[in-house]
Amino acid sequence: MIAADGSAVCHCLDSTDLVARAEQIHRTSAVVTAALGRLLTAASIMGAALKGENSSVTVRLNGKGPAGSLIAVADSAGNARGYAQNPVVELPLNRYGKLDVRGAVGTDGFLGVIKDFGFGEPYMGQVPIASGEVAEDITSYYAVSEQIPTVCALGVLVNPDLTVRAAGGYLVQLLPGAADDAADRLEKTVGAMPPISQMIDRAMTPEQIARRVLDGFEPELLEEKQVEYRCTCTRERVERAFLAMNRADLEEMAQDPKGSEACCHFCNKVYHFTPEELKILLKNATK
Ligand code: ZN
Repeated sequence: MIAADGSAVCHCLDSTDLVARAEQIHRTSAVVTAALGRLLTAASIMGAALKGENSSVTVRLNGKGPAGSLIAVADSAGNARGYAQNPVVELPLNRYGKLDVRGAVGTDGFLGVIKDFGFGEPYMGQVPIASGEVAEDITSYYAVSEQIPTVCALGVLVNPDLTVRAAGGYLVQLLPGAADDAADRLEKTVGAMPPISQMIDRAMTPEQIARRVLDGFEPELLEEKQVEYRCTCTRERVERAFLAMNRADLEEMAQDPKGSEACCHFCNKVYHFTPEELKILLKNATK
């Protein structure tokens, strides 16, 4: 959604299905579902905003909290995948009675962003964690690393049975040439809006939410996309990862009569290799 005068652009996403899939794969506890869900939502929006079909974005959050590192990767269509180092963390609700995402993520560390355009050097940026609540950290990344005034909202509602009830987010950015009062107007509108997860839960569509965010800017719909949780792992990629290992370790693995297994961090798919397959791999590698 873009303002008629081109001064502001808003990307809004209902990521309920995407985050629900992440919870099913990783069996995350409620607070990690919220933390990872927010990061996946942000990555999906940032990915969809990239130009170029082969582009991707990796967002890594490492605040030394009990959830460990959180990683989300998205392609330029907005399809995303991710994981948390420690998927099960139990924390009491914070003083607002909400899931303590900041407590799970931690605040002693960095938010890192890698934008890979499929050619040339990837763009890399890193900022100290601002709050550990994810949305503020994304805002801080854009302000410091890309110098783009940004407002970001991310939210995940988790049901008592740990399934995902609603998830979504939006990213509003002021474009060069925006009027001096544009930032104030945006902040005022956004400040008066209910939490994003609540709006999604009340069945507001991303278009309706984006129109509300850009209220007063005469918003126009630019594009609509469907996104999903999507992993890109293949057996060939696992083989390449094996070949990148220390050769002695790989030879040792090939001696194990039970064979070896590798599990994809992003989708938990298990790839099994027999000793014979590993020996063929070793043989081909020496060619
Ligand atoms: Zn996978």
